[in-house]
Amino acid sequence: MNLQDFIRDIPDFPKPGILFKDITPLLSNHKALIHCADQLADFCPTDIKIDKVIGIESRGFIIGGMIAERLGAGFIPVRKKGKLPYTVNSQTYGLEYGEDTLEIHVDAITPGEHILIHDDVLATGGTAEAVCKLVEESGGVVVQCNFIMQLDFLKGQEKLKAPVASLLNY
Ligand code: AMP
Repeated sequence: MNLQDFIRDIPDFPKPGILFKDITPLLSNHKALIHCADQLADFCPTDIKIDKVIGIESRGFIIGGMIAERLGAGFIPVRKKGKLPYTVNSQTYGLEYGEDTLEIHVDAITPGEHILIHDDVLATGGTAEAVCKLVEESGGVVVQCNFIMQLDFLKGQEKLKAPVASLLNY
């Protein structure tokens, strides 16, 4: 199965000059969805037990949850500012388009836990880098950052210390 067939390019969304990679065709196809989650779970290191998977709001929640189920791990939502109900740690970071703040509950990670970070797209890497910092602040260890796809020309991987895995490269 070629997952690339299920990624739709939307030019100039959400701003002129951005080629938005729309994963909704992948999400709406049962076989593609299962294949994507299976592959990403298979890419995880087998010598380290992942304790928790972080999904980054909002598209990272869907397949992040499916990976957590496959790995027998818990799931942690990292959300945009003001969405989480309990006490949070925050990080502000630059995006391919604009600036944003991400938050995690202060008790989401127990120090020493092994964490997998998942999102749909790695672009400039600012988002994933901010989430790595949130994990480190909580005393967690980032084992891998994994993505459905990586926009290689934006060199996001260079910002990340942890190993990176993606199913598609553009
Ligand atoms: P970045 O911090 O630049 O790596 O951006 C990653 C975040 O922005 C991810 O949560 C993506 O969902 C989203 N994103 C950035 N660029 C794109 C793009 N070209 N298409 C779809 N989503 C994108």
